[in-house]
Amino acid sequence: MTRQQVINTALKMNALGINQGASGNVSTRSDNGFLITPSGLDYDALRPEDIVNVHMDGTYTGSLKPSSEWLFHRDIYLAKPDVHAVIHTHSKFATTLACLRRDLPPFHYMIAVCGGKDVRCAPYATFGTQALSDAALDALQDRHACLLANHGMIVTGPNLDKALKIAQELELLCEQYLSALQVGEPYILSDSEMDEVLEKFKTYGKQDKPNP
Ligand code: 13P
Ligand code: ZN
Repeated sequence: MTRQQVINTALKMNALGINQGASGNVSTRSDNGFLITPSGLDYDALRPEDIVNVHMDGTYTGSLKPSSEWLFHRDIYLAKPDVHAVIHTHSKFATTLACLRRDLPPFHYMIAVCGGKDVRCAPYATFGTQALSDAALDALQDRHACLLANHGMIVTGPNLDKALKIAQELELLCEQYLSALQVGEPYILSDSEMDEVLEKFKTYGKQDKPNP
């Protein structure tokens, strides 16, 4: 089932228009490491047995090669025990901002869904390298998401559905920010305004009572 959830998330990512073709990758923790999409294959044709089980030492089981980005997926799981899913996409607007090598500032309060007061853009490094993983881990400090210069975005979550929702939200925020920049200089929320939002987000969306 979990293997199928990885495939479903990859398919949804493309259906939502936040990724293109075989770009991007998806993983979730497994008992002995993590399950990740194979490298360079179209998601449409993926079968559960094509999903690769990578162990934390980098060895893997399965007949296909794991995503070329298994290093940053692995390093995120090692550094962040509460993360159970990682999604990487080359979505249009996040990647546009990443090509400008700009952080996403708190121009909108929803930035808080990414875990803090901004979304950092990690410096450029070649895809699939330890240098890229190191840069991503730095940018993900106290955050659920980051941009990767001249590349795309990474989102983390407690599960695949939550990670996908954050990825969708981040893409929308990048689109809104880039749209606002075309008209003028967007107002940026202050530290204290964002502190207030982050405080409210601790309980926002959590209903005290279940729906009748
Ligand atoms: P993989 O197909 O190897 O996962 O690579 C896609 C990608 O986005 C590399 O950054
Ligand atoms: Zn990529």
